[in-house]
Amino acid sequence: MDTSWVKRAMENLFKKSEEKENFQKARQEWLYKGLEDNQYCEAECELCNHEEIRYEYTIINKLNKNIMVVGSECIKKFTDDFKTDFYDTEGNLVNEKRLSKDKKEYFKKILNESLDKRLANSNNQFYKDIAAKIKKDGKLTPRQLKSLYNFYPTLDKMGKQAFKSVISVSLRKEREKEQIATLRPIDLEFVAQFMTSQQRKTFDISL
Ligand SMILES: [Zn+2]
Repeated sequence: MDTSWVKRAMENLFKKSEEKENFQKARQEWLYKGLEDNQYCEAECELCNHEEIRYEYTIINKLNKNIMVVGSECIKKFTDDFKTDFYDTEGNLVNEKRLSKDKKEYFKKILNESLDKRLANSNNQFYKDIAAKIKKDGKLTPRQLKSLYNFYPTLDKMGKQAFKSVISVSLRKEREKEQIATLRPIDLEFVAQFMTSQQRKTFDISL
């Protein structure tokens, strides 16, 4: 393990743990609480003091109820890549799959909030349908996605990440495939960033 990380993490963890000497013991005092629900604050990882973490997980000390906000890379190191037993507050074992599931849910929530603010209340049925489709499964036709060209830049950093995580381009039906061919280059460029690399390959699009 990265020794400078261990040094910093130990120092920070001991400050908030009951155990003050043994890193392994101190780690066992902590439970996974969930994703930090504060998208507007530029958080710092409290374990390694690294700034600009993309999303934050909250851990809680079961003995003194202290809380720490930890970055996504650090949570992996904290659990030795989930090889150390790491439980949530309900006693469930937490692994990487669980964290990515929580992250997906979190992104959905963020995006839905932006949609509710901007699109769902629109009088335009076309946009209402898009908002509903995003909430349902995130799959949009090229034409639907293209129409979000002006919406996307209004999202903040976390919102854009959420958008990228939730949205996918539906290209199964013939008419959806045909839509790709009718897009203007500027729209195609926008749509292509949400396509999978396989889809881009199929349509011979490079970013
Ligand atoms: Zn960190």
